[in-house]
Amino acid sequence: MTQETKALHFGYDKNDFGTMSVPIYQTTAYDFGTAQKAANLFALKELGPIYTRLNNPTTDIFETRIAAVENGEAALATASGHSAVLFSILNLASAGDNIIVSNKVYGGTTTLTTHTLKRFGIACKNFDSSDASDLESLIDDNTKVIFFESLSNPQIAIPNIEKIVQIANKYNIITICDNTVATPILFQPLNHGIDVSVHSTSKYINGQGNALGGVLIQRVGLNDKLIKNARYPDFNEPDESYHGLIYAELPFPIFTLRARLTFMRDFGATPSPFNSWLFIQGLETLHVRIKEHSKNAYKVAQFLQSHSKVKSVSYPGLETDAQHHLAKKYFKDGMSSGLLNFEVEDFEYAKKISDSTEIFSVAVNIGDSKSIITHPASTTHSQVPIEDLEKAGITPGSIRLSIGLENADDLIEDLTKALG
Ligand SMILES: *Cc1c(COP(=O)(O)O)cnc(C)c1O
Repeated sequence: MTQETKALHFGYDKNDFGTMSVPIYQTTAYDFGTAQKAANLFALKELGPIYTRLNNPTTDIFETRIAAVENGEAALATASGHSAVLFSILNLASAGDNIIVSNKVYGGTTTLTTHTLKRFGIACKNFDSSDASDLESLIDDNTKVIFFESLSNPQIAIPNIEKIVQIANKYNIITICDNTVATPILFQPLNHGIDVSVHSTSKYINGQGNALGGVLIQRVGLNDKLIKNARYPDFNEPDESYHGLIYAELPFPIFTLRARLTFMRDFGATPSPFNSWLFIQGLETLHVRIKEHSKNAYKVAQFLQSHSKVKSVSYPGLETDAQHHLAKKYFKDGMSSGLLNFEVEDFEYAKKISDSTEIFSVAVNIGDSKSIITHPASTTHSQVPIEDLEKAGITPGSIRLSIGLENADDLIEDLTKALG
């Protein structure tokens, strides 16, 4: 079955209820019927819903479906993209360990990995994901994770994925790829040997900016990399919190299972069944939408490139872009989603453009069907000193667009007026 068809049908048997739409199981708990059935579920002799903090049939269908669409073995849905990133890291690293994170990632991931995790004893080192030339020198015996984004938000940078995976495998370290911006349609991390993919489903997978969610997905065969791997004792030694359970001995995908049984159990970043249902709706049309987002962004990028008041445009889908060869190498038909950055002369002009658009909303989000404009220097990065802005790939005249599904001609007309 192809990816598009899986996105519409996988994991739901219409014969269960005869409903075309997946039912929303709006329930907290489940009637086990017998004490023995309950005991079997708790002892993991069989898997099934126990309590909605841990699992839920609607969420289960979403997890099964997105795992299939990403070509993975199993998935765990979370209440936000952020909790998916957090759980994927905590599943591998504890106090005393370190993680190596790309220098070009989502701002929230930077604060989590460099500041908050440090308070819990997990150190973070940053590597240059564009060439990964410094990656190997950062690895030591306590390195548990190599983390990067396939198409980074907001820099729109594409990493040297082949080299990162090759180095990680040499040292038997787990790679985690945040695939939010590329989506499973443009890029399938697990097909490139990456071990775990994570998504903020709040963005393109939802598609309409109306629900927060996340998911982490493990690749087929990941168990083999974890079992007997001295770097990951938590999967190979008895888990005191689950009466001595040893994950390596279980016949299930143990990465997502452990994240569920420990972090979902203890931290409770559980998606609501209704939000899982919204993500199921979003997945159905994702392959159509992401192509239209990319087509629209391509047209807008071409327009901006030809405009006399625009200094530069960054959009990997453009043939003339410095990263175009990478977009062609990794992404479906060289498409690079709806995100694009451009630069004008100075701060005041950039701010004025952002204020003058009518169709674009001034908001901090991406992947919505409605177009969004952001001027980072006066909003998301206003507290960052000018000299540090550059490190984040931002200048006072940088503008970010998340191109939606309006007609591209209308967006171009709006930008023409705003540019003056
Ligand atoms: C938005 C985003 C996140 C965080 O997701 P939330 O759903 O907002 O918690 C993580 N990574 C990337 C690349 C994002 O764009």
